[in-house]
Amino acid sequence: MASAAQQDSAVKSVAVIGAGVSGLSAAYKLKLHGLNVTVFEADARSGGKLRSISHDGLIWDEGANTMTESEAAVGFLLDNLGLRDKQQFPLSQQKRYIAKNGEPIQLPSNPAALIKSNLLSAGSKLQIFLEPFLWKNNSTSKRPDAEESVGAFFQRHFGKEVVDYLIDPFVAGTSGGDPESLSMRHVFPELWDLEKRFGSIISGAIQSKLSARKETTGRMKDSLVKKKKHSSGSFSFLGGMQTLTDALSNELGKDELKLQSKVLELSSSCSENSPLDNWSISYELDDKNHSCQKSFDALILTAPLSGVKQMKITRQGLPFLLDFIPEISYLPMSVIITTFKRESVKRPLEGFGVLIPSKEQENGLKTLDRAPADVHLYTTFVGGSRNPELAKASRDELSQIVTCDLRQLLGAEGEPASLNHFHWSKAFPLYGRKYGSVIEAIDKMEKDLPGLFYAGNHKGGLSVGKAISSGCEAADLVISYLDTCSDAKVNSL
Ligand code: FAD
Repeated sequence: MASAAQQDSAVKSVAVIGAGVSGLSAAYKLKLHGLNVTVFEADARSGGKLRSISHDGLIWDEGANTMTESEAAVGFLLDNLGLRDKQQFPLSQQKRYIAKNGEPIQLPSNPAALIKSNLLSAGSKLQIFLEPFLWKNNSTSKRPDAEESVGAFFQRHFGKEVVDYLIDPFVAGTSGGDPESLSMRHVFPELWDLEKRFGSIISGAIQSKLSARKETTGRMKDSLVKKKKHSSGSFSFLGGMQTLTDALSNELGKDELKLQSKVLELSSSCSENSPLDNWSISYELDDKNHSCQKSFDALILTAPLSGVKQMKITRQGLPFLLDFIPEISYLPMSVIITTFKRESVKRPLEGFGVLIPSKEQENGLKTLDRAPADVHLYTTFVGGSRNPELAKASRDELSQIVTCDLRQLLGAEGEPASLNHFHWSKAFPLYGRKYGSVIEAIDKMEKDLPGLFYAGNHKGGLSVGKAISSGCEAADLVISYLDTCSDAKVNSL
């Protein structure tokens, strides 16, 4: 078989490793651009952390439950894949709850509601209202260091109670982490920058919102109104979150998506006829006795970095060691799906979910809980950096813990009508305080290995939207890399 680099007049070919949402988004964009694409996926299914189950008339998600359209790349996919009609927005988007003293309290959604709410003490409320005045531009000198934790950052601005009752449950619910271990710069880069620019994050957020609005006033008003309607809030899809990755997978032909194909080795070599390095990929098929090889002009890696570190990489025949990539901590998570008969739930909460602060463990609550609008079905998350050991507990143990918390929070009575359990041993990479060294290592790997690009949730954010964005950005980089190399070849003729 002629290698991709040998066929220089032919369409260029790109390998994508990993068929999670980032890899599939990258492949979709590359294919739209007219490139040949092959996606390699170790698992027997595509979707990665998007995993929806349909059983006995119920649909639930064992991975990501919702996403937002904060990133432009998400809108691009929704429009191009015809998924707007399948979007499902929760009925009570605004109603979210935080557990305090063992009881769910509605999260205030505006300043007036915050004043009335008994979630925070009067002192904390005052600190929030004074933040824009206390943190004027010159206050940035108070900023300690680039490795500041999420907890320390918010405590400087709003005090400890805000960290315990707002930030802790929020980060536990979105990353499985805890405020003290997570890096502010990497988990909330936008807020980190707002502080740098404005001092106060409240007035910074207001000012950047106003200036963004000014910039767009008058331009495409109608389409904006339409977009705003679409882009606000969290959503899922008819059929669950996997509808998105299924739609992306359906855009790929049978030979373009290779399931049960775990990539083990990558090797690049230069070719006399082409300025492009030629990438050869060895992968093992599920029966493990067969390994195959294929050649490409470029590749996008979206497998977790812990797995990338185990791959054998060679460049021009010499081993390329990835020992410069630091060890990454991963947070385990168990997802437990329980159903209760309607009449067994005494205080069904109409809303988008209950977040449980770590402090509430003192009140006996151990789960990170989010209840969907349908009061019959509850999705509960156990684990993260709070309870890594508990994530590995047996199904019976988890059943007891979850049922106990649901009894306390919602007045659920008796045993669940059904219970399902899924365990992620590496649910989330921990964006810890030294995460900057991981980003530097990714940059080094891309720089030292021309034609290799890295994307996914280890870079630029953990959310589904950020993973999509990262995949699409990597596809753009591949396209310009291939264009630049083709131009270089033409010029050298
Ligand atoms: P993955 O989905 O991890 O995809 C990587 C793929 O690479 C996998 O399919 C893997 O099998 C494959 N792979 C690995 N090694 C190899 C190899 N050697 N060869 C070939 N293939 C390989 N985000 C939100 O926005 N909202 C939420 O509500 C939300 N909830 C979550 C709940 C849970 C329980 C979890 C675990 C995550 C949640 N997230 C949520 C985060 C979000 O789902 C992920 O960050 C995102 O889906 C990651 O996508 P990815 O493509 O980067 O990685």
